[in-house]
Amino acid sequence: MAVAITAQGLGKVFNGTAAVDRLDLAVEPGELLALLGPSGSGKTTLLRLVAGLEAPDAGRLLFGEEDATRLAARQRRVGFVFQHYALFKHLTVADNIAYGLRVRPRRTRPPEAEIQRRVGELLDLVQLNGLGKRRPAQLSGGQRQRVALARALAVEPRVLLLDEPFGALDAQVRRDLRRWLRDIHERTGHTTLFVTHDQEEALELADRVAILNRGRLEQIGTPDDILDRPATAFVAGFVGEAVRLAVEAAPGTIRIGAQPISIPTGDVSGPAALFIRPRDLLVCDDGPDALSARVIAVRRTGPARRADISFGPGLPAVEVELPATSSVRKGDTLHVRLTAVRLFSSSRRGDDGRQ
Ligand code: ATP
Repeated sequence: MAVAITAQGLGKVFNGTAAVDRLDLAVEPGELLALLGPSGSGKTTLLRLVAGLEAPDAGRLLFGEEDATRLAARQRRVGFVFQHYALFKHLTVADNIAYGLRVRPRRTRPPEAEIQRRVGELLDLVQLNGLGKRRPAQLSGGQRQRVALARALAVEPRVLLLDEPFGALDAQVRRDLRRWLRDIHERTGHTTLFVTHDQEEALELADRVAILNRGRLEQIGTPDDILDRPATAFVAGFVGEAVRLAVEAAPGTIRIGAQPISIPTGDVSGPAALFIRPRDLLVCDDGPDALSARVIAVRRTGPARRADISFGPGLPAVEVELPATSSVRKGDTLHVRLTAVRLFSSSRRGDDGRQ
């Protein structure tokens, strides 16, 4: 049963500092929402508030229509999976999965045959059939996390909370588990909050992504919204390998170093920050609105070649993808065109795109 989760002005202060700062957030029923943000931005605290492991200092939390703000953790019916699989070492995989059902008070505890049936179903779901009798020590890290998820699902939670569940695993296993989790989510449909600081993971896995910064919500949107239409300079700088260039804006033009180019500037003028990603630059011939840049280095990154280029002295290098036929070398001059504009005024304090 999927429920909406709504935070209204939710706040939590530790030692005088807001870890979660009067946050408003609406998670839709059945949605997989990733919470993404730098270290210390409040992701885990928010998750613990939803789980009932922390009590808020301000605001309200709703599960569907129900006010869950003061509800005890065990009454919330949330499933929780942590980065470090907190499995019981002395119990078998099957007994770990059954644990949450067996510790229920007698009147709500299912009969043993029903528990066995449910464990069998869950072993199937997480693709661990045949491993029910093993102990956690006899499993790989990825398998243990699958057991942890099965255990969280066993109690039929209303909400699933995952805190960096794949954080301790190597890159290939992480990628496999991401796809697997997406598949499980589509089959079970729990409202899921997924904490990560890996943007690739968030953007690939989630229906929507919430970007947190210093306990506040910077933006919530689909992966496309976040990547293509960042709402703040912080978001533009945080996702998508962007480089921030300080520029000077006037209506319809910006100056990068000594080079003016015409671009849509919206209502931005004066000192501004332009965020450039490798895909935003297209190598071209010299001409109007082409920027000229010096090639600092040429690198191979997987199947593609990229160059680090600079638009002028003192400006940070930006990356550009090179056409397969390009023969540019370090020290050459290259012309590029800007194909996407992410421009923010620099004058707003605290919105400077730094992490
Ligand atoms: P990370 O990605 O590093 O896990 P996070 O985004 O999950 O970070 P939180 O763990 O929620 O961030 O921490 C937010 C802020 O609250 C940090 O400044 C942290 O030091 C502080 N904090 C969190 N838990 C406590 C606590 N129990 N006591 C005191 N301060 C805390």
